[in-house]
Amino acid sequence: MAIQTTNPFTNKTVKSFKEMTETAVEGKVANAQEAFTRWKETSYQHRADLLHKVATLMRVKKSELAQTITLEMGKILSQAEGEIDLSADIFDYYANHGEEFLADKVLDPEYGTALIRNSPIGVLLGVMPWNFPFYQVARFVAPNIMVGNTVLLKHASIVPQCAAALEELFAEAEAPEGLYTNLFISGKHASTLVSDKRIKGVSLTGSEEAGASIAIEAGKYLKKVVLELGGNDVFIILEDADIDKTVEWAVVGRMNNNGQCCVASKRFIAVESIADTFIQKFKDALSKMKVGDPMDPETELGPLSSEEAAVELADQVKRSVDQGAKVLLGGKRPDREGAFMEPTILTDLKPGIAAYHEELFGPVASFYVVKDEEAAIILANDSDFGLGASVFTQDIKRGKRIADQIDAGMVFINHPTWTQADLPFGGTKRSGFGRELSELGIHEFVNKKLIRVSELNDPF
Ligand code: NAP
Repeated sequence: MAIQTTNPFTNKTVKSFKEMTETAVEGKVANAQEAFTRWKETSYQHRADLLHKVATLMRVKKSELAQTITLEMGKILSQAEGEIDLSADIFDYYANHGEEFLADKVLDPEYGTALIRNSPIGVLLGVMPWNFPFYQVARFVAPNIMVGNTVLLKHASIVPQCAAALEELFAEAEAPEGLYTNLFISGKHASTLVSDKRIKGVSLTGSEEAGASIAIEAGKYLKKVVLELGGNDVFIILEDADIDKTVEWAVVGRMNNNGQCCVASKRFIAVESIADTFIQKFKDALSKMKVGDPMDPETELGPLSSEEAAVELADQVKRSVDQGAKVLLGGKRPDREGAFMEPTILTDLKPGIAAYHEELFGPVASFYVVKDEEAAIILANDSDFGLGASVFTQDIKRGKRIADQIDAGMVFINHPTWTQADLPFGGTKRSGFGRELSELGIHEFVNKKLIRVSELNDPF
C-alpha cells in the first residue's frame, strides 16, 4: 500500500511519503537496540516522567492532532479529540501505576526465599491500524516504555501524518533516540522484520490476515506475540430493557467512529416481545443521522476511512442481499463524493449469508429476532469472533448470568463494549489473544524472572 494521506471526505491525496529503505530500517533497529541497553537501566520515576510529558504534550496539541486524525481517516472531529484525551489518559495511567504493577512479587517457598522480578525483554515491534491512530499506539507503547522496553512502530499506511506526529511527540518530550521509532514500511516488510534477532516481541492490532501473517513469523522465530483482531460483537436486547436508552446506546455502539470499531455493536439480537418496538426506533434514529463532513460539528456520521473500505463494505452488503438478506434501511453508497456508505440495517440473516459470518466494518447493522434469552445466547456464540458483547436488561443478575455464557473477552451490561485505561481489553477465538490496558496489559512483554535464594545446606 502507498504510504499517503488521502482525505476520505474528498478522496483526494494530499501528501505522500517515501517507504524507508532496508538500510534505513537497519539503522533504526540498531538505534532501538542501543537505546534499550540504556533505557532498561533507568528508574521507574524517570520513565513515568517521560510518559507524563508525552500525555501533557498530547493535551496541549489536542486540536492539531485531532484534525490530523480526521483528515487522514475521516473520524468526526469531536471523536478525534476524545481519542487524544483517552490516549493521554493511558500514558498518565501507566506513569502513575506502572511501578506498583511491576513491583517484585515475594513468594513463600518451603526453603530459603524467592521472588518474581519483572524485567524488560528488549526491542518490540508494533503493527497498528488506522481506526484509532493514537489510542491503538498508546495502549501498546505506554506500558512497554514503563517496563523498560523500546518500540519500533509500523503504523497503517493511510495515517502517515499521525504516525509521524506520534514520533514527534516523543522527540518533543526529549525521549532518547531509539526509544520510540516510526517505521514507514509495508506490512510485508514488517512481517519479515520479526525474524530480526534484536526484536524480542511483536504486537499487532488489525485484521485476521495481517495477524496470521505476523503470527506465522513469530511462531517460526519463537517470539512472543499479542494479537488484537476483528470482532462481530452482539448487542442483546431483552424484554425488560429500557427501550429508549437502549436505542440511544445502539446508535452509539454501531455508529461511533463511523462504524469502524473492532468492538462496535454489529449484531443486534432482540427477543421477540420487544423486537418490533426496538427496530422501529433504531431505524428512525439511524435514518435521521446527519451524514457529511467530519470536520463539521453538526455531522453525526462521516465517511469510511478510504474508498477501498467503502467499496468492500458495499460489496459485503450486495453479496449478503444476493444470498437472501433483506435491506431494512440504506444498503447503498450515497450519490456523493467521498468514501461514504448509507446507514444500513440488514435483516433475514442466516448461516451461509456473508453478513452472518463476516465483520462489517462500517455503518451497517445486522438485526436478528429470537424467541428468548437462551436463543440469544446460542446465536451470540455462533461466531468465529469473540471480542466484546453487550446485554441490555434492567435485571443485572440476569445480565451477569448471560455474560457468563457468552464466549467473548469482554461483556458489557447496559453499555456498548468500550474502553478505558484501567479496564482490560482483548478477545478470544479468532479475535486474537493477549490483553492490553489495565494491569494485565503491562505484563505481556516482560520476563517474569525468578530470583531464588537458598542456604547452602538446603535440600536438593
Ligand atoms: P489491517 O489491514 O490488518 O491493517 C492493520 C495493520 O497491519 C496496518 O499497519 C497494516 O499495514 C498491517 N498489515 C497489513 N497486512 C499485513 C501483513 N501481511 N503483515 C504484517 N502487517 C500487515 O487492518 P485494517 O483492515 O486496516 O483494520 C481493521 C481491522 O482491525 C478490523 O478487523 C478491526 O476489527 C481490527 N481491529 C481490532 C482491534 C482490537 O483491539 N481487537 C482494534 C482495532 C481494529 P498497511 O496499512 O500498510 O497495510
